[in-house]
Amino acid sequence: MKEKFLENLLAEVRTYNAEEEEAIAKAYYFAAEKHAGQKRKDGEDYISHPVAVAVILSEMRADRDTISAALLHDLIEDTDVTKAEIEKDFNKSIANLVDGVSKISRVNFNNKNEANVANSRKIITSITEDVRIIIIKLADRLHNLQTLEHLEPIKQKEIALESLEMYVPLAFYIGAYRLKSELEDLAMLYLKPEDFFKIEKELAITKKNSKQCLTEMLEEISFLLEKEGIPFEIKIRAKNIYGIYKSLAENNKITDIHDLLALKIMVEDVKSCYLTLGLIHNQYYPLNERFKDYIALPKTNMYQSLHTTVFSPDERLVQAQIRTLAMDKIASFGLTAYWDINKGEAKNVMQDDLAKKFQFFSSLNELNMMFSDDQEFINQTKKELLTGNTYVYNAAGEIVELPKGATIIDMAYKLGTDVGNLLAGATVNEDYVGLDHCLKNKDRVKLLTDEEVVGPTPEWLEKVQTAQAKQKIKEFMKKKGQR
Ligand code: MN
Repeated sequence: MKEKFLENLLAEVRTYNAEEEEAIAKAYYFAAEKHAGQKRKDGEDYISHPVAVAVILSEMRADRDTISAALLHDLIEDTDVTKAEIEKDFNKSIANLVDGVSKISRVNFNNKNEANVANSRKIITSITEDVRIIIIKLADRLHNLQTLEHLEPIKQKEIALESLEMYVPLAFYIGAYRLKSELEDLAMLYLKPEDFFKIEKELAITKKNSKQCLTEMLEEISFLLEKEGIPFEIKIRAKNIYGIYKSLAENNKITDIHDLLALKIMVEDVKSCYLTLGLIHNQYYPLNERFKDYIALPKTNMYQSLHTTVFSPDERLVQAQIRTLAMDKIASFGLTAYWDINKGEAKNVMQDDLAKKFQFFSSLNELNMMFSDDQEFINQTKKELLTGNTYVYNAAGEIVELPKGATIIDMAYKLGTDVGNLLAGATVNEDYVGLDHCLKNKDRVKLLTDEEVVGPTPEWLEKVQTAQAKQKIKEFMKKKGQR
């Protein structure tokens, strides 16, 4: 009876990693003994929480060290167990994961105390060393939100807000959309309960009203794909409550949200994605401006899919999301999908991809190199990485990620020191603009450079958002002064 928690976890682990059952049970018994006597606010034994976190991760097919670390994740914080002890009884990788998770919990962006700020910086930069620390922390936060009802209202709001500010962006940056949606909806439930229930109700009504029509479309598309001999899977999905809330805040009516309801179509290869798109556009009128090719142009968190919004037979807007099965795994789980796709090699592939493909992590490393002052580093990280981004196209049609409020000058320096120093002008969506022009999502930007240009002036410092641009401008001024 007492080991029911362990049994639940092992049942999941057995489905993909049976040979590690014993090692995982060992971590469980160690944690259960050390947490013995501690209770959660709901009256359960404390060990129920680390096990729940481990279960969330086992559903992502996490490796042995990650599951073990999840079981041990609160020991350093809540008992007298040390990092050294964990390293001795388990291994170095598990000890580092537990230590990383304990530290990340202590990050507080609003506390200006010097030691705290220095510590926050160390933690933020250490997460780039092993992304599994973030993933364990996200699972930990998800379970905290799932069991938030047992805390006092003030604490609920605090945790919910911190989740939206810090953990939702992290989930987005690693492309873990399923996790992100769950975190968002749970946080919203505690921050804006009235809006939450109102939208939930409206969504239920819309779903009910459109059920028959969506089912017919699903059958029609299935028929077309079968006729062409394209193997596929198809599903109906609804936007999450927080996503709807954000769309409504932009003055949309619920019926005008173009991706409120979507048909998700998964096929075997890229060629079939485009064939499927053709079949759908041939059958239903598309809303021209809503077509997105994220296969040719992946998002900065590696999300890939074709999106098109079409008119249903009863004149609703229905989005079709078309992608391969492999892309769908990445779309739901982001980097965490690599556990399933790459098995034993997952950890290295994750780190490698993180460094090469995800813009967030290179930005973080740049900020780290740029600032010697801890408080400045923290302020800038918060501003550039955690307050939402603007996505624009460069002249080649590639997507460039910039912080909100970024200008032409910011973009130029993001693309290279020379681009910034030789910047002479720019067009946005074919119109000439000033260098302090503030960029918006989806702007198409062409930067004009000129070898004869005077170059940055002190006024430019007032016209930029990013630390990178500021630093390059100062460097230029300094060099000019020396001449
Ligand atoms: Mn915890």
